[in-house]
Amino acid sequence: MTAPYPIQFVKGVGPRLCERLVARGIRTPHDALYFFPKDYEDRRKLIPIRELKPGTTVPVRGKILSVQGGGKMFRAKKVLEVVITDGTGRLSAKWFRFHPSLVERFRAGESVTLCGSARWFRFFPEMHHPEILAEGDAADPVHSGRIVPVYPEVEGIPPRVLRRIQWEVVQRHASLEPECFPPGILARVGIPPLQESLASIHFPRDDADAERFRDFSSPQQRRLIFGELFALQWALALRRAGTEREEAIPLPWDRGIVDEIKRRLPFDLTGAQRRVVNEILRDLGKPHPMHRLLQGDVGSGKTIVAWIAAMVAWRHGVQAAVMAPTEILAEQHYRRFLELSAGLPVRVALLSAALPPKERDAVRKRIREGEGDIIVGTHALIQESVAFRNLALGVIDEQHRFGVLQRASLRRKGRISPHLLVMTATPIPRTLAITLYGDLDVSVLDEMPRGRLPVRTQVVTEDGRRKVFEEIRREISRGGRAYVVLPLVEESEKISLRDATRTSERLREAFPGVGVGLLHGRMKAAEKEETMRRFKDGDLQLLVSTTVVEVGVDVPEATVMVVEHAERFGLSQLHQLRGRVGRGTRPSSCYLITGGEQGEEAAARLSVMEKTADGFRIAEEDLRIRGPGDFAGVRQSGIPDLVFADIVRDASILNLAKEITAELQREDPALSAPHHAGIRRFLEMRTTSEGGENPALSSRD
Ligand code: ADP
Ligand code: MG
Repeated sequence: MTAPYPIQFVKGVGPRLCERLVARGIRTPHDALYFFPKDYEDRRKLIPIRELKPGTTVPVRGKILSVQGGGKMFRAKKVLEVVITDGTGRLSAKWFRFHPSLVERFRAGESVTLCGSARWFRFFPEMHHPEILAEGDAADPVHSGRIVPVYPEVEGIPPRVLRRIQWEVVQRHASLEPECFPPGILARVGIPPLQESLASIHFPRDDADAERFRDFSSPQQRRLIFGELFALQWALALRRAGTEREEAIPLPWDRGIVDEIKRRLPFDLTGAQRRVVNEILRDLGKPHPMHRLLQGDVGSGKTIVAWIAAMVAWRHGVQAAVMAPTEILAEQHYRRFLELSAGLPVRVALLSAALPPKERDAVRKRIREGEGDIIVGTHALIQESVAFRNLALGVIDEQHRFGVLQRASLRRKGRISPHLLVMTATPIPRTLAITLYGDLDVSVLDEMPRGRLPVRTQVVTEDGRRKVFEEIRREISRGGRAYVVLPLVEESEKISLRDATRTSERLREAFPGVGVGLLHGRMKAAEKEETMRRFKDGDLQLLVSTTVVEVGVDVPEATVMVVEHAERFGLSQLHQLRGRVGRGTRPSSCYLITGGEQGEEAAARLSVMEKTADGFRIAEEDLRIRGPGDFAGVRQSGIPDLVFADIVRDASILNLAKEITAELQREDPALSAPHHAGIRRFLEMRTTSEGGENPALSSRD
C-alpha cells in the first residue's frame, strides 16, 4: 500500500472521491488550487422570471404549481417537469435523466429556488437540469447568494460536491501559497498578490465584477496569467541566451563581395531591404549563429535578401542551403539564383524529390563533397541521406509551412551550428510571433518595391462572373496571365480534382485559343514544374490551380487572380493568393467569388480584403475571427501549452512580461538578489514540473 495522496485529507474527500480527483491529476490541495473554474454564475440576486434572458445562468425562486412525470411505473413519462411561478411569470424546469428520489423534493404549493440557463419553448421559459438550491443554501457561502465557480467536469464527482471540496481547499490552503513576485512588479502590472488572487478566482468576493471574471480579465486572473506569461518569456530568453553562447563560423562581409552583389542586383533595393541586409550581414560576421526571422508581406522582396546572404557564405568557401516548402518554389528560387549569379563560379544546385533517383544521388554526392555552394531544395534537404561538407548558412523560406522540428533538422546539418535565416510571408501578428519565434531576432520588410500598384480587389457573386471573364479575356489579349484558384475540398481530394479538371475544361471552352493549364497537388513534381514553366513563359496564359500556387510563386506578368468559393478560405490565405498578382508594373485585380446560400454573409467577412492590402491587419482580423489555432505552426511551436493565458486576449500582459523579463535579465540574470528569490523558486518549480503555478491541469475543457 502506498501512502494516500494528500488531497484525501481535505474535509469531505475520503478514499472514493480521492481516487477520482487523482484520476484527474489532482493529488494535493496545491493541485486543487490550480484547478480553476472554467466559468462563473452570478447568483447574488434572484431574477424575476419575466426578466430571464436566454443564455445566462441565474437563480429564480417561485411557488411550485405542478410536478409531472418521473413516476417509476412502466411506460411512465421519462421527463420530470416542475412548473413554478413567482408572480412575474411561469417557468418549467425539466429533467431528462434523474434519480427517482429527485421527485420527492418537489411538492406543489411549496417554494423552490432553481438555478439554470433559460431557453424558450413555445413562448415559455424553460430550464433543463437546473441546480436546486436548497432552502438552507440561503446562508450557505458555497452555492448560493454569491458569484459561484463552475469547474470543468471531474468524472464521478457531482458539480456541487466538487465545489464544496474546492471551498474547503481555498479556505485552508490559499493563504499558504507564497507570493513570488516582489511588490514592485505586482504594482507595475496592476495585480494583487497570489493568495488573494487564488481565493478570488475560486470564490470571487461579493463586490467583484462577475463579467470580468467570466472573460478572464479580473485583476486576480491577470495575476495568474502574468505568472504563466512571465515564465514563458523567461524560457524564451534562456533559449536565446543559449544560442548566443553557441559557436558558428563567422562570415564577415568585405568590399569585394558587396560590390560583386551590387553589380548583379537587377533593381535598387528598397530602404527596408537595405536595412534588413545590413542586419543580416552584421549577424553573419559574428562567431555565434544568427537566428533571424525575416518577416515581409507578400511581394516585399525576400528572395533577393536570401540570395545576398548566400553569396556572402559562398565568398567564404562554405555552403548555404535554401529550403522552400514546395517543388514549384524550390525550382523558382533555383532558377532565380542561377540568373543572379550568372558569370560567377558559384555552383548552384537543386535538390528535390522531383529529380530522377540517379540525378538525386548525384546531387547528394556533390553536396557531400562540397561541389555545390548554394543548394536550393525542398524537405529533401533535411533527409538523413543528405550530408553537407561545410554548411554554414541555412535559409528557410516560408517558415510557417515548416515546423520548429524542421528548423532544428536543418541546423543539425552543419558540423558547427549554421547561421539561420527564416523567412515568412504569412504576416503573423506580433503577439503570436513572440511565442512562435520568441527565440529569434526579427527583421521586418515593411516597404514594397517602388512602382507596385495596389491590387484592385472585389468580392463578387455569381452574377458578377461575366464581368470577371471579360476582364480575363482583355488581360490575356494584352499579353497578361490569369490564375483561377479552387479550394481544396476537405472531404475528398477526388472531388477537388474533379472540380479543378471540370473548371479547366469549362474555361478551355469559354476561352478558345487561350492556353489553359491545370495545376494540382496530385500531379507529379516534374509535371507541376513543366506547367509552371509554361505559364511563366506565356505558353499557357490561364492557370487553373488548387492552392499550390498560394505560396511564393512569382510570375510578374500575371494580373488577374480569381478565387472560386472564396468563403472557404481564411483571410490570410486569400491575402497570399492575392499576392500572386500585382508583382509587375501593370495594374492587377483580384476577384473573390462567393456563391451559394451564405453569399451575403461571406461577402461581409471578405469585404476586409477590399478595404486593406495590409497583411498584418488582415492577419489580426483572421486571428480575431478564427483564433490562433489556424496559424500554421502554432501547434508545433515547441512551446508548452499555456493553461490560463491566451496570447491573443492577453497581449498586453505578454508585452509587460517581456519587458520585465528583459530588465531582470539585464540586472540580475541569475536572480541572486534576495528580493528575487521568490521568482527563482517559482521558475525552478515550473521547470521541475512538480508543483509551481502550472500543474498539468487544463481548466479549459
Ligand atoms: P516575397 O517577399 O513575396 O518572397 P519576392 O522575393 O518573390 O517577394 O519578390 C517579389 C517580386 O518583386 C519579384 O519579382 C522580385 O524580383 C521583385 N523585387 C524584389 N525586390 C525588388 C526591388 N527592390 N525593386 C523592384 N522589384 C523588386
Ligand atoms: Mg517568397
